[in-house]
Amino acid sequence: MRYSRQTILKEIGEENQKKLLASKVVIVGLGATGSSSAEMLCRAGVGTLILIDRDVVELSNLQRQSLFSEEDIGKPKAVAARDAIHSINSETKADAYPIDLDHENVSILEADLILDCTDNLFTRFLINDYCKRNKKPWIYSAVVGTKGMTMNFLPSNKVCFNCIFKMVEGLDTCSTMGILNTAPSAISSFQATEAIKILTGQKPSKDLIHIDLWKQTFEKIKVKADKKCTVCKGSYEYLDGKKQEIIKFCGSGTYQIKGKFDYEELKRKLSKVGKIQDAGVCFRFSAMTIFPDRVIIKAQTEEEARTMYSQVVGN
Ligand SMILES: [Zn+2]
Repeated sequence: MRYSRQTILKEIGEENQKKLLASKVVIVGLGATGSSSAEMLCRAGVGTLILIDRDVVELSNLQRQSLFSEEDIGKPKAVAARDAIHSINSETKADAYPIDLDHENVSILEADLILDCTDNLFTRFLINDYCKRNKKPWIYSAVVGTKGMTMNFLPSNKVCFNCIFKMVEGLDTCSTMGILNTAPSAISSFQATEAIKILTGQKPSKDLIHIDLWKQTFEKIKVKADKKCTVCKGSYEYLDGKKQEIIKFCGSGTYQIKGKFDYEELKRKLSKVGKIQDAGVCFRFSAMTIFPDRVIIKAQTEEEARTMYSQVVGN
């Protein structure tokens, strides 16, 4: 009964409904697009959802992130999303992972399909590496302002994410661009539809989709593989942990680099070579503020920040 309105569709039917119930989908990022896609797939009867997000719910999220309500403020998004999914469809098994996806925990992506609903390029390159190496399909999505993009990356396609978006630059953390709440929900409708096609073994789109909700424009862009793409040639720098996540903070010439190092040992070492200011949870050394899991660096360019990081912290 629950799925009767979609099993009568010629595109779905009883057989494909069984395939959805047997499917496992990972959703990385539970903001607006992730919320909508998770909700659509659980209502459509996808059997297992793995929900990954490193953030907690904030008041400013409620304008667009449909799985959350005021009582969720302060809760990890992954946990709040799981509880919402369970209350919508108790037949869907949902697991919450309030973690920061990186090369060490990336095996959590093991599933039939991965949905990229993140807001950062670092995670997308990591997902691309993982899916290329393990021959898994994934669906990219990105939304800003009134616009959005989405594209399927399938093992059978020649083009990968790195072929198109090679140059990763420090991602601005400032939320000054804003977001219209209809844009992620529209992109999610495309993403969840393609997910249903992929999970039921039907032919998904190969094009990059670009929409502007405000201008009512829709483009299907043909993209080509890059013959020089390093990922397509089998080099997985993100998966191998050779790339550090770098975030550029708005307008201040400040960069954040995440990394794994022995904090106490580094503090001891640096206190011998120069002056450090210990602030308890972190310490300052020259133009750097060092936390146990990351370093904030004042620098002119991303390259300079990377160089300072490798000179002081190492790789
Ligand atoms: Zn490629």
